Amino acid sequence: MNLRFEHETQPQRVLFGSGDAVPNVAREVQRLGSTAVMVIASSTEQAITERLSAEIPVALRYSDIVMHVPVEVADRARAAAAEHGIDLLLCVGGGSTTGLAKAIALTTGLPIIAVPTTYAGSEATNVWGLTDGGTKTTGIDARVLPRAIVYDAALTLTLPVPMSVASGLNAVAHCVDSMWAPRTDPIDQAIATEGIRALRRGLPAVVAEPTGLDGREQTLYGAYLSAVAFASAGSGLHHKICHVLGGKYNLPHAQTHAIVLPHVLALNAPAAPEAERRMAEAFDADRAIDGLQALRTRLDAPRALRDWGFRREDIPAAATAILPAVPANNPTPVTTDTLQRLLLAAWDGADPQ
Ligand code: NAD
Repeated sequence: MNLRFEHETQPQRVLFGSGDAVPNVAREVQRLGSTAVMVIASSTEQAITERLSAEIPVALRYSDIVMHVPVEVADRARAAAAEHGIDLLLCVGGGSTTGLAKAIALTTGLPIIAVPTTYAGSEATNVWGLTDGGTKTTGIDARVLPRAIVYDAALTLTLPVPMSVASGLNAVAHCVDSMWAPRTDPIDQAIATEGIRALRRGLPAVVAEPTGLDGREQTLYGAYLSAVAFASAGSGLHHKICHVLGGKYNLPHAQTHAIVLPHVLALNAPAAPEAERRMAEAFDADRAIDGLQALRTRLDAPRALRDWGFRREDIPAAATAILPAVPANNPTPVTTDTLQRLLLAAWDGADPQ
């Protein structure tokens, strides 16, 4: 292990407690001295949001949320925030909802309190994303990092099992990609492997008992760890691939991550023996890919990109779009041919090995 590194820890308060979201949100709103909160939540999260916002000064409720944050959606939300004199953004929902709050914060500098209801992890990163005409742009900016995260596993009980599985595997993908992403360091790797342990334990428990808190708590904890590791390590090959697939072909984020991950792991792990050893240990398997595949089988995970709207004829153009973004430090050398083979296997749901 290389113990010469630079690591930046993100300044953020994390409040974790099942059933504690209402008082924790009220406390954080007060701490930030807000008098005009914009509550951002989709209609699915309305019931949750009603309870959370009962004790805070709400100036605007906003629900115009679209996955991958199209620029026109961001512009409308920014205009609404300005019109209502907003001084704090409270986002309650999955990565799409957090993403809209981040888009507003990016241009206004408004602080965010995030209350996640999926396992996407956006709340723990300083990464923003916007989509303009099929091209997804992401960037890093300290202004978009939520000041506080309020985690309450009880709020994820309503997340349907297939979405919980896909979203949880999105978190596993953050962990795996953090092991070899461009800025990876020993702290990221320690956090990522603990994230894999928590998710490996939590997700099967969510599937076995979707309304049980234990599995939801483990999964949410693992999702936070995964995002912390990812925010520090940066986007590795896996995220570069999914980024193009999401932006260019409008594929659903979590499912795309869940499907592509084993193919990237099978490609990279043989060339990254130390990461492979540590991930295998975290997955409690002889090899990391065996552990991931066993977990995917238990979870009945999404299998093939063709089931989610990706077409075989899109593979050459997708590979061409991904190639320039492949990180120079990727453990295995990547060519257009490598990417085409990987995408074909992911499209078909083939065995990654
Ligand atoms: P999402 O936010 O689009 O949510 C998926 C669906 O689940 C939606 O229909 C939503 O209404 C529903 N939902 C959410 N919580 C629920 C609950 N508790 N009960 C019932 N239904 C619920 O999907 P996502 O996978 O969470 O987020 C994807 C987006 O997040 C993508 O745009 C992705 O790029 C972004 N993202 C960004 C980062 C980052 O660091 N910037 C990290 C991860 C994901």
